[in-house]
Amino acid sequence: MNATPLSADAIGQHLATSASHVSLEVVASTGSTNADLLARVPGGTAAAPLRGPVLRIAEEQTAGRGRAGRPWLSAAGASLTFSLAWPFRSPLQRMVGLPLAIGVAVAETLGQLGVPVQLKWPNDVLKDGAKLAGILVETQSAPDGTVWAVIGCGMNLLMPDELEAAIGRSDISSAPWLARMDRNALMGQLLSRLAAVLAEFDDVGFAAFAERWNALQAWRGEQVNILDHGNILQQGLAAGVDEHGRLLLDTPAGRVAVLSGDLSLRLAS
Ligand code: ATP
Repeated sequence: MNATPLSADAIGQHLATSASHVSLEVVASTGSTNADLLARVPGGTAAAPLRGPVLRIAEEQTAGRGRAGRPWLSAAGASLTFSLAWPFRSPLQRMVGLPLAIGVAVAETLGQLGVPVQLKWPNDVLKDGAKLAGILVETQSAPDGTVWAVIGCGMNLLMPDELEAAIGRSDISSAPWLARMDRNALMGQLLSRLAAVLAEFDDVGFAAFAERWNALQAWRGEQVNILDHGNILQQGLAAGVDEHGRLLLDTPAGRVAVLSGDLSLRLAS
């Protein structure tokens, strides 16, 4: 694959003022950009603790992860794998809707770049109904009370055969249109939008994003199952999210609100 090399300088040239204070780190290879940044949340033993927002992007990520320790696989030059560490003033309990707000930032950026995508509750970005990107948010409190969120995103730009075989599922997608773009410009635009969304989220919480999320919702009005470790927990028609980011389901017993936890959403059919 012949992608333009990632560079902090080049990403920096594409940042809006919303992200001008974010430190940029590019690495050739690492296990997990999320794990790298989590280890640097103040209060630990890391040599270079976080002092402010940091974006860490890897050409190659060898031990990427999704929720509950599930693997996130990628291939050098074919994927965008990055994490953003961000300090919040909001209390931890306000963070519930954060993965959804991040989905809004990613989806709106891709839409502006000519790649329409939808959001699958709680944390996936779908293109043509299949997974284009995953979002993983991990939070940790520092001794001074600051809540740090480390926001990881893995996005498939191309899908080489070997990667597809390794993932081993058919509902995955890629975005060759984005793969033709300079990845530094793509990263700069994503980061600019993310930074604006995170600042707004810290000020006003998820309520400001519910409508934007609902406008991007995949499977709206469809019959879906909520799975907990493979077992069906709830069934109903997907009806959007509420002001906390809970999924609303219309069931025969009425409308219920489902809080994410480690639940997975599947089409019932
Ligand atoms: P889903 O409901 O799609 O299973 P999830 O939110 O439960 O998603 P995540 O934890 O976000 O899953 O992501 C991990 C899962 O994503 C893995 O179990 C694997 O099946 C899938 N996966 C891993 N790498 C990729 C990739 N590059 N593209 C698409 N899917 C991937």
